Amino acid sequence: MKKTRILLFTLISFSLLTSNLSAKEARYPEFGNGRIPQVLAKANEYMVSSANPYATEAGLRILEKGGSAIDAAITVQLVLNLVEPESSGIGGGAFSLYWDNENKKLSSYDGREKAPMLATEKLFQEDGKNMNWWEALAGGRAVGVPGVVAMLEKVHKQHGKLPWADLFEDAIKLAEDGFEISPKLGQSILNKTNPALGRYEESWRYFFPNGKPLAAGTIKKNPQFAMTLRRIALLGAKGFYKGQIAMDIVTAVNAAVDNPGLMTVADMANYEAVERPPVCANYKVYKVCGMGPPTSGGMTVIQILKLLEDKDLAQYQPLSVESAHLFAQAGKLAYADRGKYMADADFVNVPVEGLIDESYLKERAKLIGEKDMGKAEAGVPPNADANWKQSKSPEQPSTTHFSIVDKQGNGFSMTSSIEMAFGSTVMVDGFLLNNQLTDFSFSNEKDGNKIANRVQPGKRPRSSMSPFMVFDKDDQLVMLIGSPGGSRIINYVAKTMLGVIEWNMDIQEAISMPHYVNRNGTTDLEQDTDAASLKEGLEAIGHKVSVRDLNSGLHGIVRTEAGLEGGADPRRVGKALGK
Ligand code: GLU
Repeated sequence: MKKTRILLFTLISFSLLTSNLSAKEARYPEFGNGRIPQVLAKANEYMVSSANPYATEAGLRILEKGGSAIDAAITVQLVLNLVEPESSGIGGGAFSLYWDNENKKLSSYDGREKAPMLATEKLFQEDGKNMNWWEALAGGRAVGVPGVVAMLEKVHKQHGKLPWADLFEDAIKLAEDGFEISPKLGQSILNKTNPALGRYEESWRYFFPNGKPLAAGTIKKNPQFAMTLRRIALLGAKGFYKGQIAMDIVTAVNAAVDNPGLMTVADMANYEAVERPPVCANYKVYKVCGMGPPTSGGMTVIQILKLLEDKDLAQYQPLSVESAHLFAQAGKLAYADRGKYMADADFVNVPVEGLIDESYLKERAKLIGEKDMGKAEAGVPPNADANWKQSKSPEQPSTTHFSIVDKQGNGFSMTSSIEMAFGSTVMVDGFLLNNQLTDFSFSNEKDGNKIANRVQPGKRPRSSMSPFMVFDKDDQLVMLIGSPGGSRIINYVAKTMLGVIEWNMDIQEAISMPHYVNRNGTTDLEQDTDAASLKEGLEAIGHKVSVRDLNSGLHGIVRTEAGLEGGADPRRVGKALGK
């Protein structure tokens, strides 16, 4: 009798535990106006901040077991692929920074998608004209060779502690048992955030079961994805880049009706993630480090910070005309350089050192005056090729960022993307494929001069993704941050760092602070927030202002004297948690 009771009790508590994992109860707070309440997370030992509570909790379980930051990151990414499929996953690409606390060594990794070898610089032109962006993104044409799996495996080989296959268990279980569709995903399907979603068979069946949009709150299973994960768990990255999964990707890309692509199995088999030198600069007493080309994120965030370093922002209120004005002017100058010089440095000469050169930026900062400067021209940084033409490539909000600190103080900061929400809308083996190649310039030249970010075979499109880390003067990791948001990512990340460093905010306050951004055009103010009240004051000094939705997804961790503090963006449904 006693024994049966114990057994029964164990069974009940086990099923409570698993039902918790498989989400039989409501998982998400109300997301009515597109914002949820977020409170500062505090911890002593370790922490995860990501765009979804399932992912954050799964990551914490790995850290609890003694996993390193990359171990937890693999679990977080795989769970995100399942529960936030619109934003990132193994069908996409990513950039990351790893801080090895014992050896005090920072590494950065490039898992960006590559153009297939058959792609030409006119990939996005038809009859001599640039394609419509919305038509270009759907189907196979814009699918780059995915980089996430190769990158995670590379970092795991260097810094992983737990076995690779163990890191797949949570995502497999959740995919088989079911998870709750988040309000963010439900709304993105319902609102047709990507108008092409449903055009291709597998995503139609998955996101529109019985012909109806998958609704928030539904418990959903993804057994195909579970099978895919089982294979990669068993075979490693090879199980993704070679064999049936690779073949399925290539077939789906080339068979996409109306807009097929050009990928081959050789493109898949030859993909390699690359470890590259991080891009660092001093900002006051701190060292800030980001990712170099092919993302523009590291260099452009650093430019904004350095252009503002001598402006003593702390003397102004964060939400003031003065602060927004200065931030917008720095943004204009930095984005002008970004548009002209930044692309994949494996293919074009990117003057990385010149673009973050102290004296060059000191000169550029002199262009910031009391009135708006109008459209900024790119400067001529040391060692630059001044003949490049400005590149334009619109980016839409999707993507995800997560930050992790483990028990040993190692850190991982990763931004991961399939580009547009739902990527190319082509789904294979339970996951979506990216449309990252639309981050290339559609035009290949202007006035006879080449555009640095034009399509070339095997090249990686320029990105804005900006995973960052900040170190204090003793070389201690004190902050990890990053965000989605297309090319506005750069503004979001720079502004959040200034919130913490200049305005002494905690990381949650800095993330929640209403946004103002400028990408060398209008000064955008976040609608339905106090930032909108800056409009008149900014217009009075010459700004063209647009009040609009500014959908960041900042997820950061800060180490203070009291311990770890984490923040999650109220504009998404994520969570920061630690122990
Ligand atoms: N594709 C963009 C990039 O690589 C990110 C898109 C987004 O954040 O929505 O910069």
